[in-house]
Amino acid sequence: MKYTSCIHLEHGITFFSNSVQICCISSHCGGGNIIEINNYKGELIDWDDFFTKRNQLREGARKGHAPQKCEGCYYLKEQDWNTDNYIDEVLIGHFTHCNCNCIYCYTEKDKKFFNANKTYNIYPVIKDMIEKGVLSKKATITFGGGEPTILQEFEELVHLLLDYDVYNIRIHSDGIKYSPAIEKGLKLGKITLITSVDSSSKKVYEEIKQVPCFDKVWKNLEQYAKAKNGLIRTKYVLIPGVNDSLTEVKNWLQKTYEVGIRHIAFDIEDNWFKARRDNIPQYIYVIFDFVSECYKQYKIESCELYERAYNLKVDRENRLRV
Ligand code: SF4
Ligand code: SF4
Repeated sequence: MKYTSCIHLEHGITFFSNSVQICCISSHCGGGNIIEINNYKGELIDWDDFFTKRNQLREGARKGHAPQKCEGCYYLKEQDWNTDNYIDEVLIGHFTHCNCNCIYCYTEKDKKFFNANKTYNIYPVIKDMIEKGVLSKKATITFGGGEPTILQEFEELVHLLLDYDVYNIRIHSDGIKYSPAIEKGLKLGKITLITSVDSSSKKVYEEIKQVPCFDKVWKNLEQYAKAKNGLIRTKYVLIPGVNDSLTEVKNWLQKTYEVGIRHIAFDIEDNWFKARRDNIPQYIYVIFDFVSECYKQYKIESCELYERAYNLKVDRENRLRV
């Protein structure tokens, strides 16, 4: 049946440290963050109850009334949606601890608290989804937090997913801790690893990340890149006033190529973008255009635009159309 909905609303689930939500998307005018279970601490989910409630929202979308929090979200699309009950978009983001200290991270405002914040073990919940037939083998599983590789259940969980034959696992890792499970998944071609380096020089890296791990991260990336089948992206979050030099950006593209990586991702710092999205300085567009149009000059094969960068592109196209 054709109607306007989105992949997350139809078949998504997002695990946070204290809640289960539909998605983690929030920079559109509706604001997103639709909570389904509050005060969640890793309990096994009653899937009949879960789908009963979810289907009320899906039914609304079918009748042309997607949730108000979805308003303006670029994930909304009119298409034929599969109305069966299953999950094939999972975000695992229930942890907030990290061995890095990015100045733009939501954890920066109270690093001690977020690093000490005890989280639940998600392994039994994912295992239950597999055993109850809720998780599709075609699922996209995304890890984002926090740093997943220092999660106690991480290696076991990735092996569980690889054994179940899920073939699209996206892992956002800072690259500081080398993970044998990621290497295995890359070799099998089932993992996409995204590492936000945000720089090409030690000085800028340390200014942003506030840890002395520049050489270690690039060495680990080079090692991961030897596992040929998987896809690795180095990511650059543009932070105006910090890493907004075109030279830094060009050297990032070059360095990415030199360690054997052929894919990149690009984004713009969240708070800065939300505050200035109607008044973007020209030099930001120059950097954005350079990355999105010239990456192939560096023998990079693909460039993925993350949420804010994608919004920047759409906002500008809309303005030019008016
Ligand atoms: S439309 Fe956007 S906000 Fe709504 S569920 Fe989908 S991704 Fe989330
Ligand atoms: S690597 Fe990610 S989770 Fe860790 S501090 Fe940086 S942005 Fe935050």
